[in-house]
Amino acid sequence: MNEENRQQGPRRSNPAHGERSSDQPEIGLELNDQPVRSLTHKDITIEGYSRAAVQTYWRIPEFKLGFDLGNQPWSFMGTPNWFVSHTHMDHVLALPAYVARRRMMKMDPPTIYLPEAAIDPIQKILRQMSRLDRGRLPCNLVPTRPGDEITLSRELVVTASATKHTLPSMGFVVWESRRKLREEFHGLSGEEIRDLRLGGTDVTREIRIPRFAYLGDSAPDGLDACPAMYEAEVLILELTFVSPSHRKDKIHKFGHMHLDDLVERRERFKNQLVIASHFSTRYHTRQIRHIVQRRIPDMFDGRLRLWL
Ligand SMILES: [Zn+2]
Ligand SMILES: [Zn+2]
Repeated sequence: MNEENRQQGPRRSNPAHGERSSDQPEIGLELNDQPVRSLTHKDITIEGYSRAAVQTYWRIPEFKLGFDLGNQPWSFMGTPNWFVSHTHMDHVLALPAYVARRRMMKMDPPTIYLPEAAIDPIQKILRQMSRLDRGRLPCNLVPTRPGDEITLSRELVVTASATKHTLPSMGFVVWESRRKLREEFHGLSGEEIRDLRLGGTDVTREIRIPRFAYLGDSAPDGLDACPAMYEAEVLILELTFVSPSHRKDKIHKFGHMHLDDLVERRERFKNQLVIASHFSTRYHTRQIRHIVQRRIPDMFDGRLRLWL
């Protein structure tokens, strides 16, 4: 496992993953305008920041997609597809600025997937911002419902699932689609397979690998309702509350998770990496570390990371 967790400024390209593609255009100045933490896992980089009631934003440059627009670091604007989990302000406030920046930098209009109920209000906000700013805000807003399957490319599919929060909300799983030879053809020679293929037989079948999952804000029911989240190679979940003095029933009512919920589900997490984030501002960073490490000393055999 090759990973690192550090605070970093925006960068122009990621040498570990080849040169920047046309979707990661030159964005000029390197500005440290927003906090960004970064972690590399296998062939992907997870970048972002999340703190409850402050701001949440994540992206995976290699997949060309991001989650939530609570703010928009200057370095993130090259990512063209964005999924918004719900419309609490700390998850959506930077949407107009993101759209405006891409237009100003002559990038293609972005595609933003939003809970269906949010489309109309967001369109109205964009129209008013456009008037105030005297600039167009071209973007493709896609109404998204739990159960939807979004094909981003030949290799990548995103599925949406319902989560449990105080307003319409969704979590997402990013699947990598690969083609594998069907079992019934396993004994055949290369020539025989070629002949079948030339004869019009589809000798392969699709397999999907859950590479990444993002819970967004949710009580534990939202996580339990989507088993793929427990299987994904990397899972980002929210862990708003960690202190024993914060009561679980109340926390669940407000659509959030508590450290106890994580501990109770320990055996279910098959993920290579579980990233806990979206901590309440009631806690100091060292307090969060202290409480979690005391409760889970092995940090799920080293797979649990606190995004602080
Ligand atoms: Zn939130
Ligand atoms: Zn929220």
